[in-house]
Amino acid sequence: MQATIITIGDELLYGQTVDTNSAYMGRELALLGIRVREILSISDEKAAILEAVARAEQASDLVLITGGLGPTKDDITKSTLAQYFDTQLVSNPEILALLEAFFASRNRPMLQSNIDQALMPEACTPLRNDRGSAWGMWFEKNGKAFVSMPGVPFEMEALMQQQVLPKVKQYFRLPVIVHKHILTAGKGESFLAEEIAIFEDNLPANIKLAYLPNIGSVKLRLTAHGTDRATVQQQLDEQVTKLVTQIDHCIYGFDEDKLEAVVGKLLLEKGKTIATAESCTGGYIASQLTLVPGCSAYYYGSVVSYTYDSKREVLGVKQETLDNHGAVSEETVREMLLGVCSKLGTDYGIATSGIAGPDGGTPDKPVGTVWVAYGSPTDMRTKKLSFKGNRHQNIELTALMALELFRRYLVKI
Ligand code: ATP
Repeated sequence: MQATIITIGDELLYGQTVDTNSAYMGRELALLGIRVREILSISDEKAAILEAVARAEQASDLVLITGGLGPTKDDITKSTLAQYFDTQLVSNPEILALLEAFFASRNRPMLQSNIDQALMPEACTPLRNDRGSAWGMWFEKNGKAFVSMPGVPFEMEALMQQQVLPKVKQYFRLPVIVHKHILTAGKGESFLAEEIAIFEDNLPANIKLAYLPNIGSVKLRLTAHGTDRATVQQQLDEQVTKLVTQIDHCIYGFDEDKLEAVVGKLLLEKGKTIATAESCTGGYIASQLTLVPGCSAYYYGSVVSYTYDSKREVLGVKQETLDNHGAVSEETVREMLLGVCSKLGTDYGIATSGIAGPDGGTPDKPVGTVWVAYGSPTDMRTKKLSFKGNRHQNIELTALMALELFRRYLVKI
């Protein structure tokens, strides 16, 4: 079962509009186990449309097309598809009635171009568009399906969900496909791959593993194919359990989980509170933690302490510590954590101090050197981190690692 996606519009070729429709349709088809063989972006020209549809018909069972369905002269998809499927355009009474009601409700006259929007190729099944005036079209030919939808993403997405995907599921015998995302942080892709190499080699033939790396984190996706849903799900669950046992330490969640929410949940379960003292991250950790609704139950606040003076005066870091060890030091982050926990009265703290760059590095403390302290005033851990990114990446990585280190600390106590 293969699909071709065709997006129509000169604006896509000029780079004026980013083709988000293809990405959306690709994702939705993948969830159904349909492989997208090709994505073609083409101009608003009859010859280009005819050529692309013919090519797609050769290669695929399902063809999804967006764009060129509006009322203007450059919108030629409908008439071109009518020609391709050797059918004529006829006025659809249901669409016409809806259009008439719409224009009457706004007290506006209907132009010929608006009346023409009710024209549909006789051979197609019209697909109702609740979000706009251009309806979609479903054609069938020799067991293959061809779907045309409006280019406006908001309209296309509704049409996909309400009409196209249900019809695709009905028309084709689709394989069962089940995914599970395992979310890891703090371990590079290659180290992770080495750790689970034997697991990967022993995966059953119908289960595939993919690495989806991001900054500081790697999402592992296990995908199982088959025909019977219950069997496929059970096979996948078995492999997920095996994988989790092997790399438990660096897994913070599954599927849509967010690290900051996982940390929040752990704090809630333990009935504990936290505050942050941030130098190089400048409030980034606070920003992440406060993305979680209800975080005020455990997150008391942050001191963004960027200068020596504020570290000393607000957080109580000793001048002697700063003079002897510098702001980017284990001793300083320890005192920052003690200061913020005592000022805000929390059980735990996270403190960061580092050189985010691009300037400010020294031979013994190059750009990307970061010290993090986390834990409670009486049971604190520290870690020196070294990053090689740009300023923004170093800040993002510090925040992620600080939260991940603290999560690992929390699950152990
Ligand atoms: P309309 O009813 O608005 O005329 P249409 O089917 O004719 O819809 P187009 O005119 O091709 O669609 O595009 C309408 C708008 O939708 C474009 O201005 C563009 O912003 C957006 N659009 C079109 N195709 C895509 C695409 N592939 N990805 C993202 N946006 C798109």
